[in-house]
Amino acid sequence: MSERIFIGVAWPYANSPLHLGQIAGAYLPPDIFARYHRTKGNEVLMVSGSDQHGTPITIRAEQEGKRPAEIAREYHQQFLESWQKFGISFDLFTTTGTANHTQVAQELFLTLLNKGYIYKATVKQAFCAKCQRYLPDRYIEGTCPHCGYTGARGDQCDQCGKPLTPEELIQSRCGVCGATPEFKDSEHFFLRLTAFEDKLLSWVRQQEHWRPNVFNFTLRYLEEGLKDRAITRDIDWGIPLPLDGFPGKRLYVWFEAVIGYLSATKEWAKSIGDEEKWRYFWQGEVKSYYFIGKDNILFHTIIWPAMLMGYGGLNLPYDVPANEYLTIEGRKLSSSRNWAVWLPDYLSRYDPDPLRYLLSVNMPETGDTDFSWREFVRRNNDELVATYGNLVQRVLTFVYRRFDGCVPAPGEIDSRSQGLLDKAEETLKIVDGLLYRCRFREAIKSAMSLAQEANRYLEDKSPWKVVKQDRQAAATALYVALAVISGLRTALYPFLPFSSQKLHKLLGFEGSVEEDGWQLHMPPPGQKLLPPEPLFTKLDEELIAKETGRLG
Ligand SMILES: [Zn+2]
Ligand SMILES: [Zn+2]
Repeated sequence: MSERIFIGVAWPYANSPLHLGQIAGAYLPPDIFARYHRTKGNEVLMVSGSDQHGTPITIRAEQEGKRPAEIAREYHQQFLESWQKFGISFDLFTTTGTANHTQVAQELFLTLLNKGYIYKATVKQAFCAKCQRYLPDRYIEGTCPHCGYTGARGDQCDQCGKPLTPEELIQSRCGVCGATPEFKDSEHFFLRLTAFEDKLLSWVRQQEHWRPNVFNFTLRYLEEGLKDRAITRDIDWGIPLPLDGFPGKRLYVWFEAVIGYLSATKEWAKSIGDEEKWRYFWQGEVKSYYFIGKDNILFHTIIWPAMLMGYGGLNLPYDVPANEYLTIEGRKLSSSRNWAVWLPDYLSRYDPDPLRYLLSVNMPETGDTDFSWREFVRRNNDELVATYGNLVQRVLTFVYRRFDGCVPAPGEIDSRSQGLLDKAEETLKIVDGLLYRCRFREAIKSAMSLAQEANRYLEDKSPWKVVKQDRQAAATALYVALAVISGLRTALYPFLPFSSQKLHKLLGFEGSVEEDGWQLHMPPPGQKLLPPEPLFTKLDEELIAKETGRLG
């Protein structure tokens, strides 16, 4: 029975190139997950898009003397290119700038308003007398009342991850000029989060399959009690309210961007000419996964579920497998200080799979992990090239030269050979079970241990020597090795799609790995191989110094 899987992926702000922290945290994991489920024959919809509203974009536009829409367009285009080159296989990657998104967001706003979950109240909004403007929350800085971090912003504290309002900040200051802002009365709309407190609590308590960090963080936050949150702002860049009489107000970006999961699904349905098909991924027997970084947890475990509960008739998240942070060369990643590795930069010099490999074995699933160029080169050379790539290269080259380029017919399979074939079957099952539960690191390690096992097998059997005396024994060993290599092609495909698809062709298979399904598909004797080519390239250690020199 095939399953229906909805995958929502964090919406990146279209204000800067993507860096490895975002990739390891929120973009590579859902792609692995989507490719795995597609190979299993499940129905997958993976959507996201550029968040083109929000003050990060207006800040960038002001810095560059451009209009926010131009900035958003430029980076959206760059994101699309990055996904394509890095192999992040979205079914749709749209933007929050479409008419469709505006319409869906406004409709959701009106429904919540009519049901009494949105109300109007007067609040204090920060105004900088020196800059002569109302300050968006992100423009206000100060000390976090929860953890004491001095660089907290008016919308959120990056240190402890808690959402904030500008009035809560201690010693607030204007993020542009540093002056102390005044707080002036302004009328705004609020989301009545307090109405959902009990419902959310009992729902979250049932989510014991969530990662412990996500589960505990959410539960603790809920147990402290919720506050209603303003969902409009006095700004001119964003989605207008679908009401008369509020020309200077826009929907607040955090309220509007999460609606993108729904609007993107509707856009996708229209694009395939089946407008009502969006329901297929939002109602009934569907599991919805939201892949995000840890700074986004509460928006996906509390706020978005509350909005969905209020709206009614749509599925709540099934899992929110948020990741922790990736540090770079032992230090906290900082885009403003250029302590970051930028994905477009990486892709201009290297292949996608070595980075996908490193970020998978080193994914910040349960705690922060570190990226270093030394580790990148070591993992590429010692593991991808020496363990997996060489195995494939040796076997394919030998079979190609000595067995007329065709899969040899095996003789009797002895217990050593059968043991390895069993291990290949078992590895596919283990990787299957781990990926199903979003345990990516363990899954790729399990797949790689099969490659090590195959190398040991070949050392024992040494078909390259044996072939002179006993051609049949060599043929059997090579047949078994090819079968295991074929299993590795499948087990590693979600992580290393480019090299797996290449290997698929080299082994003489047609079509794609996904179409071939999640199974140990042994290439049949007589199947014609393509002329072998290496899957990976050894990297020069010199690049370590060159690349670390670009940091900071
Ligand atoms: Zn804090
Ligand atoms: Zn100011």
